Amino acid sequence: MDYNYHTHTFRCYHATGAEESYVDWSIENGIKYMGFSEHMPFKGPGGFESNYRMPERLAHDYGYKIKELKKKYKGKIDIKLGFEMEYYPNSFKYMLGKAIEYGAEYLILGQHFLDEEYLGGNYSGTKFYKREDLEKYVSRVCEGMKTGVFTYVAHPDVFNYLGDKDEYCEEMRKICVLSKKLNVPLEINFLGIRYKRHYPVNEFWKIAGEEGSPVTFGCDAHDVLGAYHKESLEKAKKLVKKYNLNYIGRPKLKRIKHKIF
Ligand SMILES: [Zn+2]
Ligand SMILES: [Zn+2]
Repeated sequence: MDYNYHTHTFRCYHATGAEESYVDWSIENGIKYMGFSEHMPFKGPGGFESNYRMPERLAHDYGYKIKELKKKYKGKIDIKLGFEMEYYPNSFKYMLGKAIEYGAEYLILGQHFLDEEYLGGNYSGTKFYKREDLEKYVSRVCEGMKTGVFTYVAHPDVFNYLGDKDEYCEEMRKICVLSKKLNVPLEINFLGIRYKRHYPVNEFWKIAGEEGSPVTFGCDAHDVLGAYHKESLEKAKKLVKKYNLNYIGRPKLKRIKHKIF
């Protein structure tokens, strides 16, 4: 594995480590293509600002820092400036515009909440039992893929559904089918593996294998050592083998500029 486009930093307030330490650790471990994908700032009406991520006023600093490192490490490692962003129907255009303004070169889709957070959006990793919530998660991810701006879907199996297994499979298959149709890769997430979270979900990857969805890897580093984690990589490879996944390796970055919405 010589790439990783899923990296956070101290800037999101729930990760640690400065950018340069992530770069050093990546180079040391043979990463040649690296992307920073800080959580995209999110503002809502009435002065609401999400505390799951950096505030808007600090996003430019993040952009400047990555651009500086990009120059400094040129020839050693290819660094890209990106964001991990939700698909929120009412805020999508605004968020995309802002991402472009901050200089983003790519975006990954991480649907951490079902709804815009000022609406009290439920975190996707909490326990869900209602089919309507499952449907909403799937619909957000599918609509996000259809915008054509996302390079891949981060942890598509983050949604923690404890309801009926058949319902789960039926709905999640929609994501896998669309991923194949639109050629938007699905990420096996190393953070979930490393911390033994509820994902990767076997049922999900079984379906992805059946549908031939393109699959890639992402570290989802929230600390420096997470920017390359050998044990997680080994486990991810096993998953690829087990479900005969269509592993594509390094994803092709989707350009987000010049898109008209
Ligand atoms: Zn995070
Ligand atoms: Zn992430």
